[in-house]
Amino acid sequence: MALQSKSFGGDSKLEAAAVSDPAHILRGASGEHVSKIQRALMQLFDQAAIERPELSDASYGDSTEKTVKAYKSRKDQEIINHTYQSSPDAIVGKMTMAKLDGELVEKEKDDPDYFFFRDAQKELVKADIARARVMVGNVVARLRLVGGIGPDGGLLIMPRNYLYYETKLKILNVFHINSFRDDDLPAPQDIVARLTREFSGFRGLPAQAGDVSDQINFSVLLENFANLQASLDRPFNREFYTMGTFRGAPLSFYAAFVDARNPKDETVRFTRNYFDERIMPTQDDRAVTVAHERCHTIFRAKGHPGTGDNPFCVTPHLGDPNVTSSEEALMNPYCYEWFIVSMQPTYLPRQDRNNGCGT
Ligand SMILES: [Zn+2]
Repeated sequence: MALQSKSFGGDSKLEAAAVSDPAHILRGASGEHVSKIQRALMQLFDQAAIERPELSDASYGDSTEKTVKAYKSRKDQEIINHTYQSSPDAIVGKMTMAKLDGELVEKEKDDPDYFFFRDAQKELVKADIARARVMVGNVVARLRLVGGIGPDGGLLIMPRNYLYYETKLKILNVFHINSFRDDDLPAPQDIVARLTREFSGFRGLPAQAGDVSDQINFSVLLENFANLQASLDRPFNREFYTMGTFRGAPLSFYAAFVDARNPKDETVRFTRNYFDERIMPTQDDRAVTVAHERCHTIFRAKGHPGTGDNPFCVTPHLGDPNVTSSEEALMNPYCYEWFIVSMQPTYLPRQDRNNGCGT
């Protein structure tokens, strides 16, 4: 292997281009290796201006050609072969590959888990992951509180206040787990009155406390959230991804995704949608998206049982009525995402209803 960077290394077409003149890459080429060159140029070269269709199809067209030429002009002494050239061409051959690879190696030294991001994108993702840690931390704390479990696993005495009942209702709505205990019910009148007032979609508390399977499922839920929290602290690969397909399947609206067929690959791939404020308006939207993708990997959750891949207009604290069992919910990353949203201190069950799309 000639290539030293993790971003390029091991790609057979790029490896070939780095050592063999006939394997050079030029206009008309397409495929994953072209996408890697495009993304490397965008990461390393501020003036890179590659158009969306070329990025989407990973095709070496006009705008890629212009960017390659501009990049080679900047590096003029190193990339022009003066024995037969006076101005740069648009061929990605041995010299260009060596230059790109060397610069990628330098970038990877700073942040070995981040690939192909521009610096500003990388800082945004880092901040979003930090925010996801805080948000998931809030969930773990509240689950421990209502479960009466201290951080060290010891038992706590829990206050049966409004927050206590409200949290248990959200667990019931989103995950179909009845965590109410015999001595929780019936709830004090003032709490029921406040739930009626403030908790949109409130249809009363369950008549009975949960059974043994509910208790087991609650333990699984708490353990899963603790694992999710830990998974945000562990290193995992993050990659900026610009192609419109992954393994032949269209990505359409996805902001981030993982390789569901290969759970050993923990790489979270971020698309341009992730950085588009019209699609991801707030940091919290991005943070729960990162958490969602980590759920796919750590719970080996291949799809979204119950909801399918595209649930719209879901009220976070009520969950999706199409999810009908705790088995489905515990394997559906959307349920974790909604639950995280609904567990934040600033969340208002009265206000956050159907994300503003309908009644
Ligand atoms: Zn998903």
